[in-house]
Amino acid sequence: MLENIIDQSRIEALDAMLANVDKCVILTHSRPDGDAMGSSLALSLFLRARGKQVVVVVPNEYPPFLAWLPSIGDVLIYDKNQAEAEAALRAADLFFCLDFNALSRIDAVGQVVAEVDAPRVLIDHHLAPDTIFDIAVSHPEACSTAELVFRVMWQMGAVDEITREMAECVYTGIMTDTGNFAYASGRKDVYYIVAELISKGIDKDLIYRKVFYNYSFNRLRLMGYMMHEKLRYFPEKNAALLTLTYDELKRFNGAKGDTEGFVNMPLQIKGARFSCFMREETEGKINVSLRSVDDFPCNKVAEKFFNGGGHKNASGGEVRGTMNDAVRLFEQVLQTFSAELTE
Ligand code: 5GP
Ligand code: MN
Repeated sequence: MLENIIDQSRIEALDAMLANVDKCVILTHSRPDGDAMGSSLALSLFLRARGKQVVVVVPNEYPPFLAWLPSIGDVLIYDKNQAEAEAALRAADLFFCLDFNALSRIDAVGQVVAEVDAPRVLIDHHLAPDTIFDIAVSHPEACSTAELVFRVMWQMGAVDEITREMAECVYTGIMTDTGNFAYASGRKDVYYIVAELISKGIDKDLIYRKVFYNYSFNRLRLMGYMMHEKLRYFPEKNAALLTLTYDELKRFNGAKGDTEGFVNMPLQIKGARFSCFMREETEGKINVSLRSVDDFPCNKVAEKFFNGGGHKNASGGEVRGTMNDAVRLFEQVLQTFSAELTE
């Protein structure tokens, strides 16, 4: 049996709130990943089936390997369709904020949301959420926000309302945020939930192939280049660095999502504890992804050096400057965190 981890009073408050609203807007973070999209779409399908008008608004494009998710075609991408997205935001009776913990994580969408007088419900698994939410379902111990969306439906007593499409979205969130059950996935509840999703008719192996075996030829060539030419390993610090300039990405005809997952690969090196991937997004802006194993806190690195944050083992941020500036910061990280990296 699944243990209830969400305070039941929050579920009751949410039920009461839902009874009085019609237009729900679901928001998720910038550069949305499998959990952001999976959790948002699962909730949108659930609320629509209950008769609500629901719009999912994302700050910018989702990666192409998620394009098959049920109802993803209805999502409004703020970057591309600002007028329509803004109209939906301003008409909202209720906001659901999924897989992020502060309005700064949703870029320009956050400024609009801050101006709209509608209650905000947080469903998220990041540490230390902001205090701007009227109901906060915040559980850093959850493997994914998708797990929490499942739990909300479960604790509402609505498990019979979960369709195969909703289950596919939830599974995608859990699978991607745990690296296909490689991390943050040691609690037995995760497998109880997966069993429930399978009983809803999902084909988990097919979902795996749709998400992870969906790369372009260019992506594999770029990966080979990165591992052969660009990977630097610092054995005395158990740390790795990958960098990619905009010109290099273009040389391989790389698309935006083509670098997804590269940051994890150096952790396959025996003894590696910390991996950093720096990608030039536009001139003067370097996107930083960080991953670690065990207790090395890459969220602290992100906060201290890269104006970002995240989870202990997966975090991110950015550098305003050149790639050389970014690499110099990485070298400082290795100095500053030398003890934690080598202990
Ligand atoms: P990724 O490397 O996949 O872009 O991000 C990994 C995780 O780091 C995300 O799930 C998110 O929790 C966190 N993260 C990435 N960028 C930022 C950022 O700029 N600020 C904060 N607070 N967290 C971030
Ligand atoms: Mn997540």
